[in-house]
Amino acid sequence: MDHEEFANPGGEGELRVRKVTVCGGGNGAQTMVPIATRNLGCPVDVYAPYADEAERLRAGVAAHDGLEVTGAVRATGRPHWVSADPAEVIPGSEVVLLVLPAFAHEGTLRQVLPFLDEGAWVGAMPARGGFDYAAAQVLRVKGRDDVTLFGLQTLPWACRIRDYGQVVDVLGVKKAVDAAARPARQVGQVARLLERMLGLSIGTAASGLALTLANTGQLIHPGIMYAHFAAWDGTPFLTDDVPLFYHGLSQEGARVLAGLSDEVQAIRARLEPALDLSAVRPLKAWLYRSYGDAIADPSTLRSAFVTNRAYAGLKAPVREVSPGQFVPDFRARYLAEDVPFGLAVSRAVAEMAGLETPKVDEVMGWAGAQLGKDYLGRDADEARIPQKYGLHDLEALIAFAAEEGAELNP
Ligand code: NAD
Repeated sequence: MDHEEFANPGGEGELRVRKVTVCGGGNGAQTMVPIATRNLGCPVDVYAPYADEAERLRAGVAAHDGLEVTGAVRATGRPHWVSADPAEVIPGSEVVLLVLPAFAHEGTLRQVLPFLDEGAWVGAMPARGGFDYAAAQVLRVKGRDDVTLFGLQTLPWACRIRDYGQVVDVLGVKKAVDAAARPARQVGQVARLLERMLGLSIGTAASGLALTLANTGQLIHPGIMYAHFAAWDGTPFLTDDVPLFYHGLSQEGARVLAGLSDEVQAIRARLEPALDLSAVRPLKAWLYRSYGDAIADPSTLRSAFVTNRAYAGLKAPVREVSPGQFVPDFRARYLAEDVPFGLAVSRAVAEMAGLETPKVDEVMGWAGAQLGKDYLGRDADEARIPQKYGLHDLEALIAFAAEEGAELNP
């Protein structure tokens, strides 16, 4: 595929994209479709093989005459084609977006790969930790070095489906998000495309490793779950007592988050002579950059959370155990995704760098106990850590990030 034409380098005119396919049928995917359709002016297909999502999506779109995004972002658009069969939607796509929880990245990439056009771009939104290891290994096994991989540091929106296939509410939107690409020389073009597609500022991260360490979901989600629930005594919450996830952050909770962020900054400092990790921002700096004026009081880390209007009203994840009675949902993504595809990956990098991570270990130990997993020991290989893909020491880790020839497991 001719990306010169596609990304229009150096030109001020329109970016031309022939077709985009969004993989996934959840909150993020349904937000992406109308926004990308409107902003790129090209057909956007959906690959939704999970359960009966393709059917439900088609039915919803037909009933509502398109997908509607409402709230902090507004857009209406129809997916061009929705299918559970990759052969129907992947061919002809210049850009394929995995808008999926991280555990579904590898399997979905394997399903779409046989149908991918030569030179297509495949991106995870968000990438979470270690996407580049898993995806590069899948490409390598199939000999697809023509494919460009990219990842977004986070999803730009807090979004929730109101009516499946019909209406999605966007509760908050970030004003800037970073992206990385592999090969890294493509990152400028990728950022231009994403900027146009999403309608927000896209910064560049120098490598997938920078994105892994810059993943603030790994700090915020397990860190706040720990702060809210590590001392929970088992008494169910009544409806009105379910804690506000962000706005309910305590002083102690903010200290946990600061501790986690400091440990990631120590990894950055240790690796920085060898790699550009400038995208790995301290949590407070990331919050200001992402939310800007939405934060009424930016004076402390805690105030930046509790006065952030993009976080207003968002409750901690709970499940109802009897009418009107709720317990914390420890199976929610905030632990089940953000530990094995987040904290555990950064911790594995710290270990290779010879750094101790006491706060990460404390939160991971607690989170693992809730999930029935020992990510600090026995179950480490279930996380998307570099060692699992054949990167066993700091030298190999840095060489892979710098694209200087470190080989992954076949
Ligand atoms: P979601 O739960 O709405 O969607 C999940 C989708 O993933 C499903 O609809 C399905 O299409 C697919 N899926 C689920 N299980 C699968 C399986 N076993 N195999 C294949 N596909 C499967 O998720 P979302 O809210 O769209 O989030 C997508 C990603 O964005 C996640 O990583 C999430 O942590 C992140 N994120 C979401 C938000 C938000 O507000 N929604 C905000 C920040 C980050």
